[in-house]
Amino acid sequence: MKDLVIMYHYVMEPDQWKGSVPISPNEFKKQVEWAKKYYEIIKPEDMNKPTTKPKCIISFDDATKDQYKNAFRILKELEVPGYFTLMSGPLVERQVPIFHLVHTTLSYFNDKEIWEEVSLKVDKDEIKNKSEIYSYEENEYRRFVKYLFNFYWSEDESRAFLEEKVISIYGSLDTFIDEFYISEKEIIEMDKAGMSIGIHCVKHIPYDGNAQDFYNKEIKPCKNHFEKLLNKEIKLYTPSFGGGEKATRMQEELLHILRENGFISGFTTQKGLTTLGKNFWHNRIDCNQLNYE
Ligand SMILES: [Zn+2]
Repeated sequence: MKDLVIMYHYVMEPDQWKGSVPISPNEFKKQVEWAKKYYEIIKPEDMNKPTTKPKCIISFDDATKDQYKNAFRILKELEVPGYFTLMSGPLVERQVPIFHLVHTTLSYFNDKEIWEEVSLKVDKDEIKNKSEIYSYEENEYRRFVKYLFNFYWSEDESRAFLEEKVISIYGSLDTFIDEFYISEKEIIEMDKAGMSIGIHCVKHIPYDGNAQDFYNKEIKPCKNHFEKLLNKEIKLYTPSFGGGEKATRMQEELLHILRENGFISGFTTQKGLTTLGKNFWHNRIDCNQLNYE
């Protein structure tokens, strides 16, 4: 039997977070209990140690506060480790990636109202046609506004609009960052409690095709920051957006640079089981696509 790496993002009640698809804490607990029964839940650092059952890693991207409040609490309760990957941009540079501003805005504001607010300033027909890429979204207004923020507007235009929305809810971006992301104090607590810590990114941008440059701007500053904070070497990497459209190229081109810099393993967004300890990159299965009972 092959090994399993489960991919988690938000672990919170779906009715309290409408900006994307979270897993409820209760469902999360059921999944980990299921995994505990059929697999040996391990830290990625222990992937070469022999086990009687196939291995499972419980992995988290983006280090949002719900992971500390809900997932970390449940993992402690069930006495199993998790693997959490960190972003340095929000904590160090105090800048929030666009996709988190989008999730937050869509969680607090009605899709139709947002669309009505912006629709005087944009080419409505163009957005309506091109927003088909989000056909998996049932609500048409959600398709329109997601296309608008992620593709139609420049990053600066989207950022200006979205930050204003988020500030109207949280009072300031600083307050938002403190409430939305796991703090450095909490990261230290999780590390001490036996959780595994990995690198996610600085600004959460997809791979741009220049490996060394990408390493220098998106990986190295994050690694340096959290190694200093935790006073230990961090050897695990999970690329943001799995690398993005150039994911396959990224896996090839970045490999030797990651190895030269002490990384031992990386986790992708490609769906599937894996054999831990064999290759550098490992497939994962999203928690919402996991077949379990
Ligand atoms: Zn991410």
